[in-house]
Amino acid sequence: MNKASLPLRSGSLTSKQALLTMLLAILISVIAGSMELFNHASSMRQSVAQRVEQQLAIVKGAAAEAAFQLNPDLAHQIAYGLFSDNEIAEVVILDDFGSPLAGFAPTEAVETSWLSQRLFGDMLYYQIPLNYYVAADLPEAEVGKVELRLDEQRLTQQFLDRSISVVGSSVVEAFILSLLIIAFFHYFITRPLLKVHDAIAHADPERPGEWDKPRLRGHRHDELGHLVDSLDHLLQAFQQGLDQRDQLHHLSHIDGLTGVANRRHFDLFYQQQWKRARRRAEPFSVIFIDIDNFKEFNDHYGHAMGDDTLRAVAQVLNNCIDPAHDLLARYGGEEFVCVLPNKDEEAALEVAQRLRQAVLSLAIPHAYSSTHTHLTASMGVASTPAQTTISPAALLAQADQHLYHAKHLGRNRVETRPRTA
Ligand code: GH3
Ligand code: MG
Ligand code: MG
Repeated sequence: MNKASLPLRSGSLTSKQALLTMLLAILISVIAGSMELFNHASSMRQSVAQRVEQQLAIVKGAAAEAAFQLNPDLAHQIAYGLFSDNEIAEVVILDDFGSPLAGFAPTEAVETSWLSQRLFGDMLYYQIPLNYYVAADLPEAEVGKVELRLDEQRLTQQFLDRSISVVGSSVVEAFILSLLIIAFFHYFITRPLLKVHDAIAHADPERPGEWDKPRLRGHRHDELGHLVDSLDHLLQAFQQGLDQRDQLHHLSHIDGLTGVANRRHFDLFYQQQWKRARRRAEPFSVIFIDIDNFKEFNDHYGHAMGDDTLRAVAQVLNNCIDPAHDLLARYGGEEFVCVLPNKDEEAALEVAQRLRQAVLSLAIPHAYSSTHTHLTASMGVASTPAQTTISPAALLAQADQHLYHAKHLGRNRVETRPRTA
């Protein structure tokens, strides 16, 4: 696992989420802002219309009086009152012949725009008839009109001023909300996920079951907690598989009776160490060990005792070697073999004598031995110097031959070269 890429990956998850949240927040704020602006536009239209109608209702009586009397001063006064309202751009009071009695118009032409037309285009012009009751028994008569036009530019400006604050506050709200979501997501999801990733990245591939299972507070019963449990089960299963593999590997290399290396292990070790010695141009030795008169021992003391004795001999031999470099293996039956990489003949003879003494020191009585009162073993040693042309099989054959000589020369002895009689 590439640990160097960990911060990059963690950053990308948070930044992806942050980007997505920001985009969503912008989208939501645009939708919410648009809806708010739409509501704002319609409520503004309503309140403007209401206000204008109220103003007209207030001045309607006085304006009718002015029109009936054809009183331009009064009409002027009323028109001025209406015109002083900022939202009204133009006012005119007409008599019943349609001639203006009084009016006010802006000094500059009012600019129109697409937006102002869309927002207020249909409600800019007002015209109300001025009715007058001349006498109680006569019907009311129309004596003139009030016409006015709203200032679309000013209304649009008011709308835009308000819109900026509406959109601005909705963007700020969305931004704060998205920051909260990002922090929440990071704290409750990204951070625990990183903890899990970190724990897996630091797990020992040889001991996955001993991984530092993360304790995710507050996530025990949610998906993250289940993820950790599932990972834990998986790693425990891996661990079991590895343990079984190690156990099988161990069993396939160990002799069932004596507990020392078996023939299979010896064959692999011998070949491997031989090649190594040749590569490094080192000496190499091997010792064949055979218990003397073991058939008699078995015949007289019984097979079970024979097994116990084999176990004891194997253990005592194994204790004599350096397990970091050398190997003692059961070659078969009551024969053992000792591989001594990087040991010359002299060193190998020393080891062989030690092995022979070790068997003797067990002091296992052997009343039926033809050579000794106690259990003994014979050894055949074969060695190669650093430079050699001999094959590994030939070296083994030599050791076997030397063992034969040891037997021939009376047992309980170490032989390294064939002796001429
Ligand atoms: P020598 O001194 O010439 O080696 O004589 P020996 O009797 O030791 O040799 P031989 O090859 O004739 O007999 C070996 C005996 O070792 C035969 C068998 O009963 C015994 N043996 C081999 N494997 C086992 C085992 O696993 N357990 C027991 N109890 N005896 C075994
Ligand atoms: Mg034998
Ligand atoms: Mg024997």
